[in-house]
Amino acid sequence: MIRLLSISCSPEEAQDVDFIKAHVALALGRDFTNFRWHKRSIDARSKHLKINGTLACSVEPLPSRIRAFDFNEVHQAPKVHIVGAGPAGLFAALQALLLGMKPVVFERGKEVRARRRDLAQIARTQQINEESNYCFGEGGAGTYSDGKLYTRSKKRGEVDLVLELLVYFGADEQILVEAHPHIGTNKLPKIIENIRRFIQEKGGEIHFESKVTGIRCKDSYLTHLVINEQDTVEVNHVILATGHSARDIYYLLHQEGIKLLPKPFALGVRVEHLQAFIDRKQYHGRLNNAYLPPASYQLVEQVEGKGVFSFCMCPGGIIAPCATQNGEVVTNGWSPSKRNNPYANSGIVVAIDPADFEHPEDPFVCLAFQETVERSCFNATGNNQKVPAQRLLDFVEGRKSKDFPRSSYTPGIESVRLDELLPEFVVRRLQKAFIAFDKKMPGYLTNDAVVHAPESRTSSPVLIPRDKTHYHHIDVDNLYPCAEGAGYAGGIVSAAIDGMNCMQSIAKAP
Ligand SMILES: Cc1cc2nc3c(=O)[nH]c(=O)nc-3n(C[C@H](O)[C@H](O)[C@H](O)COP(=O)(O)OP(=O)(O)OC[C@H]3O[C@@H](n4cnc5c(N)ncnc54)[C@H](O)[C@@H]3O)c2cc1C
Repeated sequence: MIRLLSISCSPEEAQDVDFIKAHVALALGRDFTNFRWHKRSIDARSKHLKINGTLACSVEPLPSRIRAFDFNEVHQAPKVHIVGAGPAGLFAALQALLLGMKPVVFERGKEVRARRRDLAQIARTQQINEESNYCFGEGGAGTYSDGKLYTRSKKRGEVDLVLELLVYFGADEQILVEAHPHIGTNKLPKIIENIRRFIQEKGGEIHFESKVTGIRCKDSYLTHLVINEQDTVEVNHVILATGHSARDIYYLLHQEGIKLLPKPFALGVRVEHLQAFIDRKQYHGRLNNAYLPPASYQLVEQVEGKGVFSFCMCPGGIIAPCATQNGEVVTNGWSPSKRNNPYANSGIVVAIDPADFEHPEDPFVCLAFQETVERSCFNATGNNQKVPAQRLLDFVEGRKSKDFPRSSYTPGIESVRLDELLPEFVVRRLQKAFIAFDKKMPGYLTNDAVVHAPESRTSSPVLIPRDKTHYHHIDVDNLYPCAEGAGYAGGIVSAAIDGMNCMQSIAKAP
């Protein structure tokens, strides 16, 4: 029998097997010789840092944490079509295998290895491959993402299932233990590759460089997908999991008369501090070390009745060029599993609402705003993937920066008055928020930090409305708008959950 035992100890004690052994023996008896961390989190509220958690303890050897899944062979099973091989598409495909259906996935980008070469080219050529980049390709935006696996989803069972599947396909078992699990950009591609190979071995199909360029509908029913403007594929049920950067898909649906709605999202900048500064702030003067991971932060402030908040903070991370088209620039962040870069970056974004604009009912009102900001930032630095940048205090006080400390953004940065370039209401709210953040984390507002712009792909600016119970589009019964691109997820885990839920709905559909 497994007993769960609470523990609260110092970071050093948490890694001392003899200390833990003694703790278990004292609480449960010397027979409990088998133990491991069950859940663990860092409590850095006081200067006496604590690791709080539970230990799974047993007299018998503990069972493997890797769950056994009952996947089906689906070579001859009924087909279900999925557009997009991001977390949503891939987990929908895994769910199809669990349910005995044959997933057929169309992905516009390349498989992970070929894709990596296209990412490496960005800094060298200053050009984006518009079908293979940080957002498009096998594993979607999730593959070369940071791989933080936190989610606001309260449905623990669904979250655990996604984490357990990731472990099944090669992720470190620690993601089942840590309160803030993280995989890292260096480890994600292998896991994604394992998932793809498994789906194919079981009889599923994944077609790369296969972009959906058209759809055919009849009587509110989706009948065919057009691939690469030439092949027409007959479909029964379709999960549309194309992510929030596939603008062409929104235009395509709109053109076919399929209802879309405008959706609030968030836009701002990505700020880079030194990791050592964040560590000292969060760990009361200490730096990260063998016992303490590089520290993260989360900041939020209400300014003029709107939220300004940190988004996708990457300790020990790198700022990445995440545009999907030439003629625009976009930043986001990633970190390797060890989070061992000297920088800490985070999006700091302002909530943007359709009601902020003249035609709030226009489904593309927020998308047009997002596009305009990305293009104006591109134009500010010339025809390349360099981003406009400003030191943080200069941004708040309205000064051009004369020079910069090193930035992790490899295509390069150029000094631009972002306080003049970005929309006035965004700048005003960001400036007020940075002043407030400095009160919460003294020293945050420093000229040693650099603001990179824009951080604009936080979530979809368009909603594809769907039935709340059955997940299909409100007007098209066999089209399942899914995950981040449709406006129902934000992040890897929630996208994966939504993909699985859409597939379950299809299994129950008449
Ligand atoms: C640099 C970076 C860091 C991130 N860090 C984190 C993090 O730490 N934690 C976290 O939870 N989230 C993170 N994210 C966000 C996360 O990656 C996304 O939330 C998640 O990938 C969304 O999953 P999805 O399946 O809905 O869409 P996506 O991952 O965007 O996948 C959509 C897929 O559809 C394909 N596609 C698009 N159009 C078509 C078409 N017409 N035909 C065929 N295929 C098409 C795309 O090529 C893409 O592969 C990060 C994102 C980036 C870019």
